[in-house]
Amino acid sequence: MNHSKKPEWLKARLPSRDTYFQVARILESRCLNTICQSARCPNIGECWERRTATFLILGNVCTRSCGFCAVPKGRPLPPDEHEPEAVVEAIRQMGLRYAVITSVTRDDLPDGGAGYFARTIHLIKENLPGTLVEVLIPDFGGSEEALLQVLEAGPDVLNHNLETTLEIYPRINRPGAHYFRSLELLRKAAGYGAITKSGLMLGLGETPESLKKTMQDLRETGCRLLTLGQYLQAGRDRVPVERYYSPEEFSVWRDYALSLGFDEVVSGPLVRSSYQAENLYFSSHRFRSQT
Ligand code: SF4
Repeated sequence: MNHSKKPEWLKARLPSRDTYFQVARILESRCLNTICQSARCPNIGECWERRTATFLILGNVCTRSCGFCAVPKGRPLPPDEHEPEAVVEAIRQMGLRYAVITSVTRDDLPDGGAGYFARTIHLIKENLPGTLVEVLIPDFGGSEEALLQVLEAGPDVLNHNLETTLEIYPRINRPGAHYFRSLELLRKAAGYGAITKSGLMLGLGETPESLKKTMQDLRETGCRLLTLGQYLQAGRDRVPVERYYSPEEFSVWRDYALSLGFDEVVSGPLVRSSYQAENLYFSSHRFRSQT
């Protein structure tokens, strides 16, 4: 197999159903950002047609400039005070029973934006009881105080992406991000009793040995849910793809991760951290063992 040419299975389908456009209108009318758009996610047609989206709070400009990410970098505007309420209303209109919320990294804010995450979770729980909330958080610069602020609001899943293996970190220009700090955040969150989740991008040049070690490191923190997806280059100035993995290879890596004791793993070329997040949560071991 040619490992450098973009293969067929990465072709995403274009949106066509009404539900896609309904979701677009709801988000636009409330001036909300999504990581689906900002990261140019290939699944946007599929997810929005299923009436799911991942809310991007705290603006759409990131204070870090990781070499793999498509989100615009620069100096962000002050957060929108009304954004948490707007997110709640959009969730209500979309009829979501499982909401996924992420943010850009806000190193410019004293709490890294943790207070906005907490307020958004509180408002969802107060106004839409029964709605489950997954938060995909930045590393908050390693602040345990910020992490606790989010956890005390009671998210159902605490997601933080490790993204890649230790040796790839310097190559992908992750200013301010640290492999071990991210592991520590996940360890602390699990220690406080949270269900933790993480994600890895494959295809940045990692070796099979380092990928195994990274999954072992994640599992060792108590992380229970894992996503594995193909890294895709989102622009000419982004880090190039070193290798495309086949769907069969993703399946082998899923089996390996499950053998380490993860409750559930979703793995495939187009899998992203928030892809089918609700299904991943409900098909996890915790639920399988109850049926
Ligand atoms: S996978 Fe996540 S980011 Fe991509 S379109 Fe679906 S919900 Fe949005």
